Amino acid sequence: MKTIPALRPITPAVAEEVRRLIAVKIRAPQDWDALIIYESIGMVFALTADGILLESMEDSPSAEVPMEAVDPRLRIGAMIVGVRRFPFLRAMLPERQAGTKDCAECHGTGDLNTEQLSGILCITCGGLGWHLEDESPHDAP
Ligand SMILES: [Zn+2]
Repeated sequence: MKTIPALRPITPAVAEEVRRLIAVKIRAPQDWDALIIYESIGMVFALTADGILLESMEDSPSAEVPMEAVDPRLRIGAMIVGVRRFPFLRAMLPERQAGTKDCAECHGTGDLNTEQLSGILCITCGGLGWHLEDESPHDAP
Protein backbone atom coordinates (compact mmCIF):
# COMPACT_ATOMS: atom_id res chain seq x y z
CA MET A 1 0.00 0.00 0.00
CA LYS A 2 1.32 3.42 -0.90
CA THR A 3 1.13 6.25 1.55
CA ILE A 4 -0.65 9.29 0.22
CA PRO A 5 0.61 12.52 1.76
CA ALA A 6 -1.89 14.72 3.54
CA LEU A 7 -3.23 17.96 2.19
CA ARG A 8 -1.58 21.06 3.59
CA PRO A 9 -3.58 23.22 6.00
CA ILE A 10 -5.51 26.06 4.46
CA THR A 11 -3.54 29.33 4.26
CA PRO A 12 -5.04 32.72 5.13
CA ALA A 13 -4.92 33.71 1.45
CA VAL A 14 -6.73 30.57 0.33
CA ALA A 15 -9.28 30.94 3.12
CA GLU A 16 -9.96 34.51 2.05
CA GLU A 17 -10.50 33.49 -1.57
CA VAL A 18 -12.76 30.59 -0.57
CA ARG A 19 -14.76 32.95 1.64
CA ARG A 20 -15.06 35.45 -1.21
CA LEU A 21 -16.28 32.80 -3.67
CA ILE A 22 -18.77 31.44 -1.14
CA ALA A 23 -20.06 34.97 -0.54
CA VAL A 24 -20.73 35.54 -4.23
CA LYS A 25 -22.30 32.06 -4.41
CA ILE A 26 -19.95 30.79 -7.07
CA ARG A 27 -20.36 27.03 -6.88
CA ALA A 28 -21.41 27.25 -3.26
CA PRO A 29 -24.73 25.62 -2.40
CA GLN A 30 -26.95 27.83 -0.25
CA ASP A 31 -26.93 25.65 2.81
CA TRP A 32 -23.36 24.32 2.88
CA ASP A 33 -21.23 27.42 3.44
CA ALA A 34 -18.56 25.75 1.33
CA LEU A 35 -17.11 25.97 -2.16
CA ILE A 36 -17.75 22.97 -4.39
CA ILE A 37 -14.42 21.87 -5.82
CA TYR A 38 -15.35 18.50 -7.31
CA GLU A 39 -18.60 17.01 -8.48
CA SER A 40 -19.07 13.63 -10.02
CA ILE A 41 -21.85 11.11 -10.34
CA GLY A 42 -23.10 10.50 -6.81
CA MET A 43 -20.45 12.54 -5.03
CA VAL A 44 -19.65 16.14 -4.23
CA PHE A 45 -16.63 17.60 -2.47
CA ALA A 46 -16.59 21.11 -1.07
CA LEU A 47 -14.11 23.20 0.91
CA THR A 48 -15.06 25.47 3.77
CA ALA A 49 -13.18 28.69 4.55
CA ASP A 50 -11.94 26.90 7.68
CA GLY A 51 -10.13 24.44 5.45
CA ILE A 52 -12.46 21.52 6.06
CA LEU A 53 -13.01 19.32 3.03
CA LEU A 54 -16.59 18.10 3.01
CA GLU A 55 -18.00 15.18 1.08
CA SER A 56 -21.51 14.22 0.22
CA MET A 57 -21.95 10.73 -1.18
CA GLU A 58 -25.09 9.21 -2.53
CA ASP A 59 -26.32 6.19 -0.58
CA SER A 60 -24.44 7.18 2.56
CA PRO A 61 -25.27 9.25 5.66
CA SER A 62 -23.33 12.13 4.08
CA ALA A 63 -25.96 12.35 1.33
CA GLU A 64 -28.18 14.23 3.81
CA VAL A 65 -25.59 16.18 5.76
CA PRO A 66 -22.12 16.65 4.26
CA MET A 67 -19.35 15.15 6.38
CA GLU A 68 -15.62 15.76 6.53
CA ALA A 69 -13.86 13.69 3.88
CA VAL A 70 -11.36 11.37 5.55
CA ASP A 71 -10.10 9.02 2.82
CA PRO A 72 -6.61 10.33 1.92
CA ARG A 73 -6.93 9.34 -1.74
CA LEU A 74 -10.31 10.97 -2.15
CA ARG A 75 -9.07 14.10 -0.38
CA ILE A 76 -6.10 14.40 -2.73
CA GLY A 77 -8.16 13.50 -5.78
CA ALA A 78 -10.85 16.06 -4.99
CA MET A 79 -8.20 18.73 -4.47
CA ILE A 80 -6.37 17.82 -7.71
CA VAL A 81 -9.61 18.35 -9.62
CA GLY A 82 -10.32 21.46 -7.58
CA VAL A 83 -6.97 22.99 -8.54
CA ARG A 84 -7.86 22.66 -12.23
CA ARG A 85 -10.87 24.87 -11.59
CA PHE A 86 -9.44 27.06 -8.82
CA PRO A 87 -5.65 27.28 -9.26
CA PHE A 88 -5.22 29.11 -5.94
CA LEU A 89 -6.06 25.81 -4.20
CA ARG A 90 -2.64 24.50 -5.27
CA ALA A 91 -1.34 25.86 -1.95
CA MET A 92 -3.19 22.99 -0.24
CA LEU A 93 -1.58 20.18 -2.22
CA PRO A 94 1.29 18.45 -0.43
CA GLU A 95 4.76 19.59 -1.36
CA ARG A 96 6.74 16.91 -3.09
CA GLN A 97 9.72 15.92 -1.02
CA ALA A 98 13.14 15.19 -2.43
CA GLY A 99 13.70 11.53 -3.13
CA THR A 100 10.10 10.59 -3.85
CA LYS A 101 9.69 8.64 -7.04
CA ASP A 102 7.09 9.01 -9.74
CA CYS A 103 4.10 6.73 -9.28
CA ALA A 104 4.78 3.60 -11.32
CA GLU A 105 1.10 3.05 -11.99
CA CYS A 106 0.50 6.30 -13.89
CA HIS A 107 4.15 7.08 -14.73
CA GLY A 108 3.96 10.27 -12.73
CA THR A 109 1.08 11.77 -14.67
CA GLY A 110 -1.63 11.24 -12.04
CA ASP A 111 -3.97 10.11 -14.80
CA LEU A 112 -4.92 6.56 -15.63
CA ASN A 113 -5.41 6.80 -19.33
CA THR A 114 -6.49 3.68 -21.10
CA GLU A 115 -7.93 3.09 -24.54
CA GLN A 116 -11.43 3.35 -23.07
CA LEU A 117 -10.99 6.11 -20.54
CA SER A 118 -9.07 9.31 -20.15
CA GLY A 119 -8.84 11.87 -17.38
CA ILE A 120 -9.36 9.24 -14.68
CA LEU A 121 -7.29 9.95 -11.58
CA CYS A 122 -4.76 7.28 -10.66
CA ILE A 123 -5.97 5.19 -7.73
CA THR A 124 -2.46 4.42 -6.50
CA CYS A 125 -1.30 8.02 -6.01
CA GLY A 126 -4.68 9.75 -5.89
CA GLY A 127 -3.75 11.84 -8.93
CA LEU A 128 -0.60 13.41 -7.50
CA GLY A 129 1.76 11.44 -9.73
CA TRP A 130 3.91 10.45 -6.73
CA HIS A 131 3.50 9.01 -3.27
CA LEU A 132 5.56 8.75 -0.12
CA GLU A 133 6.26 5.08 0.15
CA ASP A 134 8.03 3.05 -2.44
CA GLU A 135 7.20 -0.57 -3.11
CA SER A 136 8.55 -2.81 -0.38
CA PRO A 137 11.23 -5.27 -1.47
CA HIS A 138 8.69 -8.06 -0.99
CA ASP A 139 6.50 -7.10 -3.88
CA ALA A 140 9.27 -6.18 -6.28
CA PRO A 141 8.78 -8.01 -9.58
ZN1 LIG B 1 -0.33 7.31 -9.93
